[in-house]
Amino acid sequence: MRLVLLGPPGAGKGTQAQRLVAKHGLLQLSTGEMLRAAVEAGTSIGMRAKEMMARGELVPDDVVVAIVSERIDEPDARKGFILDGFPRTVPQAHALDRMLKEKGLKLDAVIELKVDEAALLKRIKKRVAEMKARRETLREDDDPEVLRRRLLAYRDQTAPLAAYYQLESVLHSVDGMAPIPQVSSAIDRVLREALTKKAAARPRRADGAGRAQAGKTAKGSKTKAKTAKSGRSRAVGQKLARRKTGRGQRLTKRR
Ligand code: AMP
Repeated sequence: MRLVLLGPPGAGKGTQAQRLVAKHGLLQLSTGEMLRAAVEAGTSIGMRAKEMMARGELVPDDVVVAIVSERIDEPDARKGFILDGFPRTVPQAHALDRMLKEKGLKLDAVIELKVDEAALLKRIKKRVAEMKARRETLREDDDPEVLRRRLLAYRDQTAPLAAYYQLESVLHSVDGMAPIPQVSSAIDRVLREALTKKAAARPRRADGAGRAQAGKTAKGSKTKAKTAKSGRSRAVGQKLARRKTGRGQRLTKRR
């Protein structure tokens, strides 16, 4: 399974991604986490990203595209992954499409956590205040003004991705304001649907084993009927083609 979790900061993408990691053994690829690790380690990428992240701005596309591409190539990503916080711009979505195509991979679903921005801002501010009261370490960008800017960046640059993925028929929207277990169940339903779709799109085996298997399912009789119908259509088509050829010959003769 290869998924994208879409949603503004504080929508619960991280929480849901961690649950999916535990339940399905997928790898969580959070560009925010990767960038924070790079900043901490003082790598050249980290040094480039540090100031922009502290201001709540997006890091240049080429930086994030490169780190995601490298990470996807690692063996632990083979079973599948959840992209959390990437893509965040339309050019990043194009880059992801190209990157996956080159690697012979495809996205199975994009799950958008839909939230009410005003309620979200309140929720985040409350969480920050509680963390401060508990004297927990806050992220540099966990500041109300920076959060407002991160939400604006989401609205301007990331929200248009929903329309992009809708056109690609992989978008599923889930109510992100619902209680966490409800959001999780909604995501599970989306994944079941995506898996069924993926299984149906899988090419049939040349030895007909796939067809034999399909015959055992409830849809089997429908499949057989379709096969018979397509056989009939083929015969009718051939008959028409013969007639056409005959007429064609007659026309030629008349001339
Ligand atoms: P996050 O933890 O996903 O909220 O990301 C924290 C910060 O990292 C963002 O505010 C951006 O500065 C940067 N960042 C994370 N992912 C991306 C991305 N895909 N494109 C650009 N900047 C990103």
